[in-house]
Amino acid sequence: MDLEFERKLTIPRETKALYPLTAELAPIVEARAATLRAIFEGRDPRWLLVIGPCSADRADSVLAYLYRLRELQERVREQIFIVPRVFSNKPRTSGDGYMGLVHQPDASARPDPFKGIIAVRSLHLRALRETGFTCADEMLYPENHRYLDDLLAYVTVGARSVEDQQHRLTASGLGIPVGMKNPTHGDLRVMLNAIHAAQGRHSFIYRGWAVHSLGNPLAHAVLRGRQTEEGGTVPNYRYEDLCRLAALYQSVGAQNPAVLIDTNHANSGKDPFRQPEILRDVLESCRRDRAIAKLVKGFFVESYLEDGCQSPGGKVFGQSITDPCLGWEKTERLVFDLAEYR
Ligand code: PEP
Ligand code: MN
Repeated sequence: MDLEFERKLTIPRETKALYPLTAELAPIVEARAATLRAIFEGRDPRWLLVIGPCSADRADSVLAYLYRLRELQERVREQIFIVPRVFSNKPRTSGDGYMGLVHQPDASARPDPFKGIIAVRSLHLRALRETGFTCADEMLYPENHRYLDDLLAYVTVGARSVEDQQHRLTASGLGIPVGMKNPTHGDLRVMLNAIHAAQGRHSFIYRGWAVHSLGNPLAHAVLRGRQTEEGGTVPNYRYEDLCRLAALYQSVGAQNPAVLIDTNHANSGKDPFRQPEILRDVLESCRRDRAIAKLVKGFFVESYLEDGCQSPGGKVFGQSITDPCLGWEKTERLVFDLAEYR
């Protein structure tokens, strides 16, 4: 093998011992997990809003964002349940570019996963301790999930991972909601197969163990639009798309059929400023059709302190270094729009 083995990393148990979930914080994690379960089981009518920067590139600006989000959450607590996006590892379309805090705890320095793993756990733990939020992250590397399994509220399996067996099997063993995104080419059956696989029980290999899962009834769909071979994007949040998903869901008979709409990525053509109008369009579909209103549980929004994006190493505090985001003022307006839905 031509790999150069640089350094043995801390294992999840050691990392958790260094940054433990304390007895006073554990009930917050449990209460938020119960709320999410109630939302997906249709017992809590509030919207789920997974919102935050495309990538959690540095602790100070992410926490500054979460402090503001905390206040906003208080103002819409009757209508919306917010789960912040703290996405610490980024899938790359062609393998190039910033790969997230877990690889690069300092975005302008060379990769250092030893520090990266600690930076990721420490950020999720600080988010909980300082703001009371348990957050969402992408499960890009299933074997890394155990570094965060006691802290996370929600995970996604991304558009580039959703057809992968290890992701699906690992998802079947998680006790939290898992959002299965449609693949980049847009075939919804791939996403529904991932939901089916994750809802089932499995025996498989995980971190050098033979393991058994119980199935995850909270695995559900996330629509993010699709890419074309010509390099264009085609949205899949419109009324007809939602009806198609509802019909497909019915034909496969999944537990807790649900969808979140990702308003950025190929749905917005990565124009983050289109996110509010996309959200309003989906709300209109919910008003039009009760079955759609039941299926749509909420939204994914890419938002940060500042509008747009900059290149990695850029100096603007709270501006994305990956996908362009909606800045704070526009974010507030979007959240109030959602809260006003009747
Ligand atoms: C993301 O959430 O930033 C992302 C990469 O999403 P997707 O997997 O849909 O491309
Ligand atoms: Mn993104």
